Amino acid sequence: MNNTLAYGVQNATAPVAPLCIERREALGRDVLIEILYCGICHSDIHQARNEWGGGSLYPMVPGHEIIGRVSKIGAQVSKFSVGDLVGVGCFVDSCRHCAACAEGLEQYCEAGMTGTYNARDRRGELTFGGYSERITVDENYVLRVPDNLDPAAAAPLLCAGITLYSPLRHWNVQSGQKIGIAGLGGLGHMGVKLAAAMGAEVVMITTSAHKAQDARRLGAAEVLLSNNPAEMAKHANSFDLIVDTVPVPHDLNPYIDLLKRDKTLVIVGPLDPVGVHGAKLIGKRRQVAGSVIGGIAETQEMLDFCGKHQIVSDVEVIQAHYINEAYARMLKSDVKYRFVIDIASLR
Ligand SMILES: [Zn+2]
Ligand SMILES: [Zn+2]
Repeated sequence: MNNTLAYGVQNATAPVAPLCIERREALGRDVLIEILYCGICHSDIHQARNEWGGGSLYPMVPGHEIIGRVSKIGAQVSKFSVGDLVGVGCFVDSCRHCAACAEGLEQYCEAGMTGTYNARDRRGELTFGGYSERITVDENYVLRVPDNLDPAAAAPLLCAGITLYSPLRHWNVQSGQKIGIAGLGGLGHMGVKLAAAMGAEVVMITTSAHKAQDARRLGAAEVLLSNNPAEMAKHANSFDLIVDTVPVPHDLNPYIDLLKRDKTLVIVGPLDPVGVHGAKLIGKRRQVAGSVIGGIAETQEMLDFCGKHQIVSDVEVIQAHYINEAYARMLKSDVKYRFVIDIASLR
């Protein structure tokens, strides 16, 4: 076993603090990764504080936006060599034989994907995430990271990036289409960059006029204020797809009005849509849909796309001791647009 320094929580009310965990030896198809950077996702806070239905497992080491270098490989590893720059996202295993896994859609595994942290793996052991020096992962759940990307800024691609890339691809975004991204945070800023790189005309939909300049810098052609009914009316029936990243419950009906016939509004957070008006859906055969991260093959495709188009996240790199303050700032939306922990600061 590898004794490993980590940062995590002992229970739902404890602050994030140093702790020691063990990582299994890299045997068989396992890859041992020395972690360089780990992004901080909003779901880290929700899970650390047991805010998602009481299922949190402790001690917990959060983190599922992991970038590192391979330091050891098992005898049967064929895809990676020592020294490779690699990533690990939101899951480290799945059942490998259900219909979803067979289609490469491991994120929808019918037996449940194995979370990178706050889960039990197929051996029954607790999984621990990326706020740690190293991690051992089966090579089939490890991603190759293009060498031309800044590794710190690439970390958030593993969750925020793929969360937006997957719906843009699934709903087949094409050059010239008008695509709405609602909410400019960690997820939304990736949506603007990715959709713009796909050639779409991106409209940032927000309630905050002061975000307009930043949205344009990120690649938005236009900014639409959702709290301005006159402006919203001008854009009615004109969007090919809207991806809604707003992290708090809100009225979806004004966004549905923006869609053309047969087009879709996709939510990417676990929110309960409030009071959707059926008439708005049936009158134009519109759809409201959901989407969660992406499978391994699609996550690799996203990383390669980002390498080709030089896309990374806008990040603020922090030291490990700053994680609690980072959480507090995230809850006030005081970050542009993702905190990333420099794992060298653990040692
Ligand atoms: Zn995440
Ligand atoms: Zn499966």
